[in-house]
Amino acid sequence: MVKSAVLGFPRMGPNRELKKALEAHWAGKFSEAELQQAAKDLRLQNWQLQKSQGVDIIPSNDFSFYDQVLDHSVLFNVIPKRYQDEKLSFMQRYFAMARGNSTLPSQEMVKWFDSNYHFMRPEFSNSTEFKLVGTKPIDEFLEAKEAHILTRPVVIGPVSFLYLGKAEKGSQGLDPISLINKLLPVYEDLFRKLAAAGADWIQVDEAILVYDLPEKVRAAFKPAYERLSKAANVKILFTTYFGDLGNNVDIINGLPVAGVHLDLVRAPGQLGSILSLLNDSQILSAGVVDGRNIWKTNFKSAIEIVETAIKKFGKDRIIVASSSSLLHTPHTLDSEKKISEEIKDWFSFAVEKAKELSIIAKAVTNGPDSVRSELNNNTKSIEARKCSKITNDPAVRERQSSVTQDMHQRKSEFSARNKEQKQRLQLPLFPTTTIGSFPQTKEIRLARNKFRKGEITEQEYDSFIEKEIQAVVKFQEEIGLDVLVHGEPERNDMVQYFGEKLNGFVFTQNAWVQSYGSRCVQPPLIVGDISRPKEMTVKESKYAQSITNKPMKAMLTGPVTILAWSFPRDDIPRSVQCQQLALALRDEILDLEKAGLKVIQVDEPALRETCPLRKKDFPAYLEWAVNAFRLATAGVENDTQIHSHFCYSDFNEIFDAIRCLDADVVSIENSKSDLKLLSVFDSQNYPACIGPGIWDVHSPRVALLEEIQDRVREILKRVPAESLWINPDCGLKTRNWEETEASLKNMVAAARSAREEY
Ligand code: GLN
Ligand code: ZN
Repeated sequence: MVKSAVLGFPRMGPNRELKKALEAHWAGKFSEAELQQAAKDLRLQNWQLQKSQGVDIIPSNDFSFYDQVLDHSVLFNVIPKRYQDEKLSFMQRYFAMARGNSTLPSQEMVKWFDSNYHFMRPEFSNSTEFKLVGTKPIDEFLEAKEAHILTRPVVIGPVSFLYLGKAEKGSQGLDPISLINKLLPVYEDLFRKLAAAGADWIQVDEAILVYDLPEKVRAAFKPAYERLSKAANVKILFTTYFGDLGNNVDIINGLPVAGVHLDLVRAPGQLGSILSLLNDSQILSAGVVDGRNIWKTNFKSAIEIVETAIKKFGKDRIIVASSSSLLHTPHTLDSEKKISEEIKDWFSFAVEKAKELSIIAKAVTNGPDSVRSELNNNTKSIEARKCSKITNDPAVRERQSSVTQDMHQRKSEFSARNKEQKQRLQLPLFPTTTIGSFPQTKEIRLARNKFRKGEITEQEYDSFIEKEIQAVVKFQEEIGLDVLVHGEPERNDMVQYFGEKLNGFVFTQNAWVQSYGSRCVQPPLIVGDISRPKEMTVKESKYAQSITNKPMKAMLTGPVTILAWSFPRDDIPRSVQCQQLALALRDEILDLEKAGLKVIQVDEPALRETCPLRKKDFPAYLEWAVNAFRLATAGVENDTQIHSHFCYSDFNEIFDAIRCLDADVVSIENSKSDLKLLSVFDSQNYPACIGPGIWDVHSPRVALLEEIQDRVREILKRVPAESLWINPDCGLKTRNWEETEASLKNMVAAARSAREEY
């Protein structure tokens, strides 16, 4: 019999109950016992839900109060000294590592592979003393067992745990992987305890196998699993996801584990090589239901893949599984009451995906007739989506087919444009500007909500926004900024705002996905060919320009970022969707230019984070991503100045791509990173202007004048004076007015003194 398995389930609950419980606890309104009880209820609910969908193998220890990697750090006593010294309870310490407390900053947070989930990076030191100090995986296993559900506990594998971590300050030079032999006894201990509690399988996630790995790390797998396989009477499912194993597939060869899980959605091609690598008793868990998107599974294709595997292995050695944890999908489609029935029929969220798994397992176990009507309905949905007018817009396709190479090319190159722009804008040396948003006050959010609910008229709302713009413009003039912005009061979010104005997008009521800790995001869903029915931002920018003589900078989110922060379609490549967005933005930019905007910023903070997992795939991605930006921006005249903005990026890897964007001014988040980063921008390398963030907008701390002055002096050692712009790190929407005003005044003063000094 073919069994179905889920690799992990969303934790937040159908209505983000966990978020609410956590935030109430942090606010002191919910005791630790109440929080524990809420979590227990949610876990039970999730297990029962999966069971009721017919899933055979249900995970435990996939729950977390904040992050599963942090759970492991705490479980294994990987707790940096600074948190140990404090007299904190277990939970207080856990949350201090997660989000900081009044005296300590949090641990570093990093993106989980190429998803929008973020994990707390483990820190290892020479004095790290691995020991099993908690019982979370065992407790949760027993909790489920008590409810008569025999779960498969999920743990992060030892090699991934070390590789995803870093050396603690003071232990620089320590390569975490060198600690593997110290760590393994703790895993052995954990496996023994899980086996004693009654677990027959453990899902051990070694997701790093989809990365390019150093030889030392690759070499760590075999000896580690030799040991772990003998540790206890429990079977190991060696689990990878999010991509192709590529050259790491050889690690599977002869690995003493009872089973292997592969992501066959992202990389169906690896099935063949795995089938010939596994031995006669090993089990294959075939990840055929996508854990990373919101689309209904195509049963026909999924069943074909599973049948291929069955032919070789027989039914008892195949498991049908989600490609990865379902953590990255929203909870259930049931909560969506506003999406049209036609479109809703195309989707499948976590609960529905669990059901799909059990249907596929039945189909291959008992034959298609046992689930005939489910299969037929699925075929109908898939066909309907393929043929739908919503999905396919011939006008968009037609336009894409007539895109030419020279549409990606500005009329002249930077040096010529720069002259014309200088002439037209008449800016001083070291021009000052901001990244776009100004504090989003309670009043602004309230007005937006009222308008959304129809409690105020469009006219009332528009005049409210105009007043906000007036205030922001006046403020910027008063403090003496050179290039102004309108402040983005009308925008809730830099992607949703555009998605709502474009054809091809759908919005949900409750489709939240965990981003980090209690923070969830609700990405728009791209369902069809994208186009712009009418102007999106011209009204506000044009108005803002009309009330000042200073140049006004219009503000757009770039095509790569809109795509990255939405759920994309799975029926056409992302590159095609990105080009559709680029064409829509191109029209918007030309309209802004026509409306008199001389400076236009196109934000692409997601350019770096969308990079593929493997280096070999970078060039292809960067080509379409850069082309999309260029297609969006290259239609303007020479004397229209194009800015772009990047935050939280590691630029070295994509520096060439940033240069290829051919923007006139690039602002980057820099205040937290060291200045070395800027050396890549030295004059020979980088022809255009740059604005390295001068202070950290993510902290409420006011930037002091001397600090900014020092910073500018340091930057000037690396960036030619005529190329330097002075601006904060990022948008100011999360700051309050007091902090904003004080910091910006210091920034302007620093620019003035730099002009004198220079
Ligand atoms: N223009 C946006 C803002 O200022 C940019 C935000 C971002 O880069 N994340 O809010
Ligand atoms: Zn930013």
